[in-house]
Amino acid sequence: MRILIVEDEPKMASYLRKGLMEASYTVDTADNGKDGLFLALHEEFDLIVLDVMLPGLDGFEVLKRLREQKQTPVLLLTARDTVEDKVEGLELGADDYLAKPFAYAEFLARIRSLLRRSPRGVRDMLVIADLEIDLIKRRVRRANSRIDLTAQEFSLLQLLAERQGEVLTRTFITSQIWDMNFDSDTNVVDVAIKRLRSKIDNSFDRKLLRTVRGMGYVLDDQS
Ligand code: CA
Repeated sequence: MRILIVEDEPKMASYLRKGLMEASYTVDTADNGKDGLFLALHEEFDLIVLDVMLPGLDGFEVLKRLREQKQTPVLLLTARDTVEDKVEGLELGADDYLAKPFAYAEFLARIRSLLRRSPRGVRDMLVIADLEIDLIKRRVRRANSRIDLTAQEFSLLQLLAERQGEVLTRTFITSQIWDMNFDSDTNVVDVAIKRLRSKIDNSFDRKLLRTVRGMGYVLDDQS
């Protein structure tokens, strides 16, 4: 499940992002309304967490313009717990509303509830060829044999599987799995990929995890 967070306060954005990633969601962020709207319109998300008070385009304006084209579920965040704000947000097409400050547990509960209603639905299984990834039990099977992965290997596989067919750069993988940004000359990703590949691909003729030279990695079924 992929979630977009549009929030200009860096501390709040990183707090929400970190928590959602720990709950195994794929997270993108934007720190202003203009970039948030662009991402929301041009990419596919299961849910958007949208702060109301944003520089440039505010959250209400982003929501209004988004709803002219798309029905992606939106959870509005605001610092003002007023009836007027709530009514305006819901009238513009927000699916839910949370006033700051809020408890993280409540935030996560709202997210889960919205995702259950999401048109894309909660996926509990990802399948690529004979590779099956059970997202609920966090178990992996290939050709009906169980494959044991570490938590980090599982997250890496899930990230690749959710974006199967898409080449993921080392920088992107690093930012999603290790929650940091550093130059892609590090070999952390390469080492992790090598370990994952040894478990899911090495003993099979059909290779699913490919290296795209100079670009990154892709999980797909080419045969
Ligand atoms: Ca704000």
